[in-house]
Amino acid sequence: MGYRHPSESSLARSDGLVLPLEVRVHGRGGQGGVTCAKLIAALYTQMGLHVQTFGDYGSERSGAPVQAYTRVDRTPIRNRNKIYRPDHLIVLDEGLIGAQVLQGIGPGTVLLLNTHAGLEAYRGRFEQYRLGVVDATAIAREQGIGSSSVVIINTTILGAYARLLGLPLAVLEQAYVSLGLGGDFPAAQHAYEQVRIAEPLQRIAPSAQPAALGEPAPVAALTDHDKDVPPTLKTGTWSNQIPVYGDHSAPCNLACPAGNDVVGFVQALRGGNVEEAAAILLRTQPLPSVCGRVCPAPCMQNCNRSAFDGAVNIRGLERWIGDHAELSLPSRRDAALHVAIVGGGPAGLSAAYQLALRGHDVTIYEAGPALGGVLRNGIPSFRLPQPALERDIDRIRSLGVHIRCNARLGGDDLRNLRRGHDAVIVCVGFGPAVDLAANGHDLTGIRQGLDFLAAAKQERVALPGDVVVVGGGNTAIDCARTALRCGAATVTIAYRRARQDMPAIAEEIEEAEREGVRFLFHRLPVAFTGSAKVSTAVLAEVEAGSPDASGRRRPVVTGRTSSMPCDAVLLALGQKSGLDLLPDGWTMKDGRAHEGGQALPVWFAGDCATGEGTVTHAVGNGRLAALAVLEGRAMAAAPADGTRVAPGQIRFSHFDLAAPNGDRQHLPSRLAGNFDEVNLGLADPGEAERCFSCGHCTRCDTCLVSCPDGVIYRTEDGYRVDGEYCKGCGMCAAECPRSAMEMQEKHEVTP
Ligand SMILES: Cc1cc2nc3c(=O)[nH]c(=O)nc-3n(C[C@H](O)[C@H](O)[C@H](O)COP(=O)(O)OP(=O)(O)OC[C@H]3O[C@@H](n4cnc5c(N)ncnc54)[C@H](O)[C@@H]3O)c2cc1C
Ligand code: SF4
Ligand code: SF4
Ligand code: SF4
Repeated sequence: MGYRHPSESSLARSDGLVLPLEVRVHGRGGQGGVTCAKLIAALYTQMGLHVQTFGDYGSERSGAPVQAYTRVDRTPIRNRNKIYRPDHLIVLDEGLIGAQVLQGIGPGTVLLLNTHAGLEAYRGRFEQYRLGVVDATAIAREQGIGSSSVVIINTTILGAYARLLGLPLAVLEQAYVSLGLGGDFPAAQHAYEQVRIAEPLQRIAPSAQPAALGEPAPVAALTDHDKDVPPTLKTGTWSNQIPVYGDHSAPCNLACPAGNDVVGFVQALRGGNVEEAAAILLRTQPLPSVCGRVCPAPCMQNCNRSAFDGAVNIRGLERWIGDHAELSLPSRRDAALHVAIVGGGPAGLSAAYQLALRGHDVTIYEAGPALGGVLRNGIPSFRLPQPALERDIDRIRSLGVHIRCNARLGGDDLRNLRRGHDAVIVCVGFGPAVDLAANGHDLTGIRQGLDFLAAAKQERVALPGDVVVVGGGNTAIDCARTALRCGAATVTIAYRRARQDMPAIAEEIEEAEREGVRFLFHRLPVAFTGSAKVSTAVLAEVEAGSPDASGRRRPVVTGRTSSMPCDAVLLALGQKSGLDLLPDGWTMKDGRAHEGGQALPVWFAGDCATGEGTVTHAVGNGRLAALAVLEGRAMAAAPADGTRVAPGQIRFSHFDLAAPNGDRQHLPSRLAGNFDEVNLGLADPGEAERCFSCGHCTRCDTCLVSCPDGVIYRTEDGYRVDGEYCKGCGMCAAECPRSAMEMQEKHEVTP
């Protein structure tokens, strides 16, 4: 996937810098000097440079002097010595200033001091240096960074450092965000504004001259500390484990029944690349505008961010791409297979799409006058407007798929199709609606909800008075909401189980409630009365019995009844499964037709094969059927989730809290006659910023700057760990915010 390399997105150029560059930070234990050096490293990685950073601690505890180092160069750095002649020196505690700290600096060195004293206090002392002074402690205290007793100034002082070097604040901000310190950036901004700078009296280029100040003791020349050569002691031999980079499965990807690469398309959006995001999504999802509206979004239910501050609005982002990306697909007809698809609902459309994308010749046979299945005949337009559906279907049609509408096929047709094609995929959805065996069920005013929904999509339907809807699935909710729009005075849903057992999408239940639909749980109509036209529903109380195979409590109808006056009843009790068009002698096994024990080149997909009952399942199943056709095998199982990244593997402390961007809602003041879309989706794709990119490297450089041995190098396509010097401490993997690397036993790693 196409992550942007920091050098491609550099906000500042490195041209003006004298490289290699060595920075030394002095502070006291607890002040954050080591993090300060890491932040400096992150700052330079934003400019596409190679860095190395590490701390130098004694055995003392909090308050004892600590040094930390950062090296910067245009090429990978091999010198892992401490820094003895810094080009930039940062002192976090003015009490430390003395010969020891100033050791090794020469004229022209950049010197940044944290002090409450102004520049005046240093007049005559550091005139050969480019001096910056800032009261980072006061700023950090004001901004509440650290505690009242221990103020942490590392993130603050770097604002002053950026100003001293003439770096734009935006580069600094990006570095803070990459290390999960975005919340400290305002303090850095203050320091940027408040630092006072004195230029050297005589501008002298940094040189290798030792500092006159402080009369440092000459450094023993046991090794050459400045030469970029690796130490001879290969410390890598000490380790028994080594960090390994590699993608792990994001839970959103694993949960999407369509098989979408969620983390891929969301991260591409995050990088501002809408076309790439669309290309990734369209690999598996032919109906992004549809699923971006009606999918129950199991991806969001599984999103790791829900354990932090709310799931990423993945469905909203999918819809945003579907509605906004302009992506025309290449039409090719260069592959060999002729495939017939029976049924043009989501499963059939998905199967046709996958085959046509690969250049095969595909014909869809659809019983109705137009493609779409339930999307066209069932789901109301206030949830799925026609233009959104047409947009997705037109994209599939543009691949050159042949379409034969008004073609309801039977068993004989299926046999013929099989003879005339290389393969057939049957995607005819569920069977007819389930009826209610109750006295008076044939009274006028009682009708199947599916018929009512189909009629309401084609013409103006009037349904005045009090309406009772029987059922608890999506059809029941859609019937209830549509009835309100067709003029019903009241709508009551009678459901035989409890609210939590309703199979309808939870958000749709809430929507219905908000619009004024009433619910009667544990009720089932056992009779209807009226003279020719229904006027009363007799509702029996239903008790929860022992759990059935699905774990839900079995409904037990009691003799206790009550009567409810009504003018119309809509039945939404589900649809029968079963394949009416299966020819005699054929059976279905593992999604494939068999005759006399022999597998036939006929596959089944969608609700007719699985009964899973969602659009996204149908899309995923249609794709798998197409792949099974291409490989001539049974339907593949869902992918295993062995490498799933759990919430506990995300370093939440790296990220700033940010509430989810919800979909915009249009709540009409009057529902009657109003079929306008209610959910207007996201205003922009900014929500993508919230994605952690679980298990997928974003090239944030956190591992690189966290390595205490400086043995991680950036490469063209990722990172490389220098195994000759990596001691296997695991800091990098522990610091990775998103579990995109792991420590492995050395003997397990293939060289
Ligand atoms: C009212 C309602 C609301 C729903 N809301 C949602 C929702 O919000 N979210 C969600 O994910 N799911 C929802 N669902 C479920 C979802 O729509 C289905 O699971 C999905 O459409 C199944 O797709 P499919 O392609 O298998 O079948 P279908 O969509 O049923 O398509 C089957 C197609 O095959 C055609 N066909 C049938 N027999 C033949 C034949 N003999 N010859 C030729 N063609 C034939 C049909 O005309 C139809 O076009 C809803 C379902 C209903 C009924
Ligand atoms: S199709 Fe549904 S589950 Fe898959 S990514 Fe889209 S919203 Fe999530
Ligand atoms: S945070 Fe992003 S990658 Fe992680 S589960 Fe959520 S959407 Fe997927
Ligand atoms: S820390 Fe950042 S750069 Fe390193 S593996 Fe993790 S995501 Fe990638």
